Amino acid sequence: MRLGAGPQVRPADASAQDDVRRANLSAVLRLLHFHGPATRSDLVASTGFNRSTVGSLTSELTKLGLVRERPGVVGGKGRPSNVVEPLSTGAHVLAFDVTPSSVGAARVGLGGYMLQVRRRLHSTSPHDVPAVVQLIATLATEMQARAAAGSVCLGIVVSVMGSVRQPDGLVRRSPPLGWYEVPLADLLREATGHKYPVAVGNDGDLGVVAEYLRGAARGSQDVLYVRGEVGVGGGVVVDGELLKGAGGYAGEVGHIVVKPGGRVCSCGARGCWEAEVGDGAIIRSVGRDPRESEIEDVLSDVAIGNRRSIAGVRKTGEWVGLGLASLVNIFNPRIVVLGGTLGALYPTMEPTLAASYARALGPMREQAMLVRSELGSDAQLVGAAEVAFADVLEDPAGTLDDRTRQADEHEDHPLRVLHQAG
Ligand SMILES: [Zn+2]
Repeated sequence: MRLGAGPQVRPADASAQDDVRRANLSAVLRLLHFHGPATRSDLVASTGFNRSTVGSLTSELTKLGLVRERPGVVGGKGRPSNVVEPLSTGAHVLAFDVTPSSVGAARVGLGGYMLQVRRRLHSTSPHDVPAVVQLIATLATEMQARAAAGSVCLGIVVSVMGSVRQPDGLVRRSPPLGWYEVPLADLLREATGHKYPVAVGNDGDLGVVAEYLRGAARGSQDVLYVRGEVGVGGGVVVDGELLKGAGGYAGEVGHIVVKPGGRVCSCGARGCWEAEVGDGAIIRSVGRDPRESEIEDVLSDVAIGNRRSIAGVRKTGEWVGLGLASLVNIFNPRIVVLGGTLGALYPTMEPTLAASYARALGPMREQAMLVRSELGSDAQLVGAAEVAFADVLEDPAGTLDDRTRQADEHEDHPLRVLHQAG
């Protein structure tokens, strides 16, 4: 997966002219998608292309329905430069985030605009795979029906907590959902009539993609993202590339052992980081029973200044800092982004977390800045959307062609059926 937010300009001597054209279209669309509307003059400055090249590229993107131009504001010397903007109703993606309590859904337009957001609680147990698949398919149909006429659906991407094999989207294991060997991508392709490409990603990977491209880690090339919830997941961007690993499982940070002989973890081992800093551990640390309380109870206790809860959360902060220090030693990120419950409780944990982090890291600690997620609980939806946009940003015309053909081939044609029946 290519993540670069800047212009990707190929050398001018690229063999085929088509390749150059495709790369140039890609460079302009990428700029508009990630940085928003720009004047033609801005595009000339950012891409290094000359005026007439930029003019012809924006005309082609306009014809494809991916951008539109409007006159710039009059002022200063000379003619105002046209403003080019990404057309959020020209192409969109459907993004989903499956958690143990709910399914989040978003229709996201080109330019990263959240056009529609939904969150539905599971009506049955999240373990009920067919029910979750049906819920996602229903939400996809509902959101698709609200899309602008002519807007091309580029694909469906789903975030899942757990180990997801790439590229086929098989969920190998997700203890929070109780899923093992679930071919989620295949099931969703079937449930949505094979009309759209479907991909499934790990929540930590999609979280780091989101924070890197659109959140707290914008501008950093080396990023560690940690999402603490029922489980603890993570994702790593190294030198602008998502770290995948041999099977796509890299960044499963929840199961590093921080406390030999500690609590039993969902994976069966003892003393994993997840067992010490996951939601269950935090609930216990404030003196509540995880069978009776939820993490929201802790968040509201902390918000009203309950001392016992604050002390418990701070105790957990020590283990958070210790685990982060090990990860920073391995990955040497410029920035560490905390998401999920850990992001929400970071201000409360900060004193103890920073102290144990500094102790364990020593002089290396200045290298990595600790911050809260900027995107919060939307991070997985934003990351999923960007994965679905990657192809059109790489090859705008080719991808639109491809997606339109796929949708047409699998479209139900009531008229045609009637004619055949007659
Ligand atoms: Zn474990």
